[in-house]
Amino acid sequence: MSQDGSTAGAVVQGPRLYLRPLAQGAAAPLEAKQAHYLSVVLRLAPGAGVRVFNETDGEWLARLDKVRRNDWTLTPERKIAAPQRLPDLWYLFAPLKHDRLDYLAQKATEMGAARLMPVLTGHTHRQRLNLDRLRANAIEAAEQCGLVSLPEVVETAALGDVLSRWPLGRTLIFCDEDRAGGDPLRDLAAVRRGPLAVLVGPEGGFTLDERARLRALAHVCPISLGPRILRADTAAVAALALVQAALGDWRTDTPQVTD
Ligand code: SAH
Repeated sequence: MSQDGSTAGAVVQGPRLYLRPLAQGAAAPLEAKQAHYLSVVLRLAPGAGVRVFNETDGEWLARLDKVRRNDWTLTPERKIAAPQRLPDLWYLFAPLKHDRLDYLAQKATEMGAARLMPVLTGHTHRQRLNLDRLRANAIEAAEQCGLVSLPEVVETAALGDVLSRWPLGRTLIFCDEDRAGGDPLRDLAAVRRGPLAVLVGPEGGFTLDERARLRALAHVCPISLGPRILRADTAAVAALALVQAALGDWRTDTPQVTD
């Protein structure tokens, strides 16, 4: 927390764990991995203070206790922050190979995406996706970057179906590697503030049909990510940074909403 008691721009110090549910005085049992991290890796003793959070109960200062040998609990004692509402920004991406996907889920979470949406495209190689692993990566990133929230991870769907069911009023920012020479900041300046989504393609790029369909849709805004072709995981970070800076919560005139 900063001196004025707010958590905006907070520096994350000490251990911070995602845990649910959390309630004042209710001892929450730790998974073996979490207990190992606190007691063996960090060498914390019973009585130590640990920050815990989740997207509905907010963030708490909790006391570490040892019940039995490998059996540890954290008891929330004092609430230090309300849950944050994430910017209304969906991140649509084609599943990549394991380590790249881990990276992508972590980075999209750090960048403030509210929803991670895997989409299958014509050139997507991986069809099966471990959503639990995606979620675990989102949790790890949220713990590390001070988020008092968590992006929702949704089931994989075909890009065509996602476009057919597209909600009215949500702008889809389409990272189009064929838009070389376009200025993304100028293109984004023309986008209405409101619900947003960002789409990045797979390593093989989009098919001609997909590109034509996307470009024909009125709610789609194609943007360039500069003169070089970025790898899909790099494109994720670049696109979300551009969108957050131009239209999202990097702008100082965007209200920081907490529930
Ligand atoms: N089709 C490319 C690789 C695609 S890169 C090829 O093999 O030559 C993966 C995705 O990142 C693309 O589908 C696009 O969504 C995004 N991307 C990468 N570089 C980009 C750029 N310079 N401008 C816009 N989008 C880009």
